[in-house]
Amino acid sequence: MNGLIERWVRPEIRALAAYHVQEASGLIKLDAMENPYGWPEALQQAWLERLRQVEVNRYPDPEGRELTAVLRRVMDIPEGMAVLLGNGSDEIIQIIALTLARPGRTVLSVEPGFVMYRMIATFCGMDYVGVPLRADFSLDLAALLDAIERHQPAVVFLAYPNNPTGNLFDEGELEQVIQAAPGLVVIDEAYSPFTDHSFMGRLGHFPNLVVMRTLSKLGLAGLRLGYLAGPPAWLAEFHKVRLPYNINVLTQVTAAFALTQGWPVLQEQTTAIRAERARLFQALQALPGLTPFPSEANFILVRTEPGRAEQTFEQLKAGGVLVKKLHGSHPLLEDCLRFTVGTPEENERLLNALA
Ligand code: PMP
Repeated sequence: MNGLIERWVRPEIRALAAYHVQEASGLIKLDAMENPYGWPEALQQAWLERLRQVEVNRYPDPEGRELTAVLRRVMDIPEGMAVLLGNGSDEIIQIIALTLARPGRTVLSVEPGFVMYRMIATFCGMDYVGVPLRADFSLDLAALLDAIERHQPAVVFLAYPNNPTGNLFDEGELEQVIQAAPGLVVIDEAYSPFTDHSFMGRLGHFPNLVVMRTLSKLGLAGLRLGYLAGPPAWLAEFHKVRLPYNINVLTQVTAAFALTQGWPVLQEQTTAIRAERARLFQALQALPGLTPFPSEANFILVRTEPGRAEQTFEQLKAGGVLVKKLHGSHPLLEDCLRFTVGTPEENERLLNALA
């Protein structure tokens, strides 16, 4: 290539490793926080009927108005708040960063946390600061407030519950962070279906607070739909950066269908996943050499005995179960694996492969 790549591709992009998705064919997929359940036959038929009416020769509604109205209703988005849809919440992170990016500006989050905050900051030419959590994965409030004071971040991303640790941060401490932050604070509620706690009801109480969610974990990961709720003045700016027609017509129609006609089924599945989370947690606690951490999400972080994570990961894979290996990704995740909660049968396979 005669140095073309070196000459033209930005060095910070060349230095990145691409977001890695593991090959999963033939394996039980407990690596990516997907809902393991499909739809009953009757619901699937009704959905296909609905899709029959879709005109794929036309562009989708650029604002996704029907879907947005459904989301407002079922997700209790407060009156007066605006909504922005994204092609997954990943795209919303990107839209926010593109809107705020300037050389020397900072994206701030905590670590271990969701890796895309750092990656997207880099794509957009922003600085990234990751403030370490404490060993129990709670916020180090003093360090966080100090970093906010020092770096004056344009945006702070905090996942609630956090990925990959599964815990909720202290509400009062998060409010202090929101109050101390000079810029925007995004509370990322990707795992909202699996917890009773949310900042949605606090929208409007703080001028710099927005709440981001996704339908991926609820059971619609294949659709790629995320949404952001917050003060109209912020969202009007983000809408300018959003590409036209970013939500395709199949996603718009399917999501609106799933959140209305499919809603009882999705609720049932969520309840089942929460119950399985409790059962799996207890079963993992009973296994010698494993320490599971309490979770408010649809996955459980587990620590093996020192030096055993790699071997346990390979043992599970040999047993037909794919999980996420976190050991090596952050000092606080030493000897850690992450298990997505599957169906009772899948979790049984996981437990058998561990035993
Ligand atoms: N935020 C968090 C905390 C996540 O864990 C994930 C997915 N792993 C996302 C956002 C992105 O989800 P999606 O793009 O599927 O909406």
